[in-house]
Amino acid sequence: MIKVGIVGYGNLGRGVEANLKLANDMELVGIFSRRDPASLDTQAPAYYYDDLDQFTDKIDVLILCGGSRTDIPKQGPELAQKFNTVDAYDNHSNMSHYYQDMQAATQAGNKLAIIATGWDPGLFSLNRLMGAAILPQGNTYTFWGKGLSQGHGDAVRGVDGVADAVQYTIPNQDLMADIREGKEVAYDSHSAHKREVYAVLADGADPDQVREAIVTMPDYFQGYETTVHFISAEELKANHQGLPHGGHVIRSGQTSPEAHQVYEFSLDLASNPEFTAAVNVAYARAAARLAKEGVTGVQTVFDVAPKYLSSRPIAELIADLL
Ligand code: NDP
Repeated sequence: MIKVGIVGYGNLGRGVEANLKLANDMELVGIFSRRDPASLDTQAPAYYYDDLDQFTDKIDVLILCGGSRTDIPKQGPELAQKFNTVDAYDNHSNMSHYYQDMQAATQAGNKLAIIATGWDPGLFSLNRLMGAAILPQGNTYTFWGKGLSQGHGDAVRGVDGVADAVQYTIPNQDLMADIREGKEVAYDSHSAHKREVYAVLADGADPDQVREAIVTMPDYFQGYETTVHFISAEELKANHQGLPHGGHVIRSGQTSPEAHQVYEFSLDLASNPEFTAAVNVAYARAAARLAKEGVTGVQTVFDVAPKYLSSRPIAELIADLL
């Protein structure tokens, strides 16, 4: 059995706990939180983050479930000196820096870290690489959604006159259809995505003013086709509590002037954190197995051979899936 620890108990941490129950070769040793372990809503053993030092010999791999903004950049390098780790770090612009920090940490402790193992980054990254390697003459396009964007929801909730809100990012279906047909397209994040807001107005707020404040918000909404729906608090609670997401990676290319080829990978997720956690758990299996083989240092989804993700022996995989 592969012994696993969960660090951080938010959406992702709960998702990892649920997914570990589906993995018959892995067992949860404990959940480690900066908050009082007794306050966590779980039946699993829970401990303070600071107690991790007592578990260095009892855990094969830690799955780091903290936030990417401030938790992972600190906890990743701290823990990768003492444990093999897997994370879902998703700050694309800081990835090279994080990779270097984790390289130094793993070298200091002779440990293995597999970083950025979710769906984006993660499975989408892998498919962007595959598409471009297989179709060198072509272009790669990423579309996100339909999905709940936490950052945009936060931004709308900060607008004067908004009591509560959610925001969905929606891919531009017409643009995707043109790409699949091999047409020349003008693709940028503004043309590729639409934004849909469901907001509850505060008492006395003017809907026109609130709508204008939302659609003109720089960085978040300006330049996007944005629709704002005003709904009741009851409707928001009834219909907008899930965390759906997904998207498409499309590589459109030519292998000869006559042959237009489309490579496409897509995800349609009812729960973003539970699916991300499912990917993390498969890579945790890989980390434990690679570490057992003596591999140390930092790896990404580009480095890990797929056979390590599966609990099934390679002979079975060849017979059944090749
Ligand atoms: P959360 O905000 O739910 O949790 C982050 C951390 O905050 C937890 O680990 C927990 O740490 C703390 N926390 C959680 N709930 C509470 C609370 N009620 N009060 C105080 N602290 C709390 O984030 P998610 O789990 O949704 O996401 C984690 C990260 O996963 C994101 O930052 C994102 O970057 C990444 N992600 C990556 C994806 C990918 O494809 N690569 C996809 C989706 C997400 P503690 O228990 O120590 O207090």
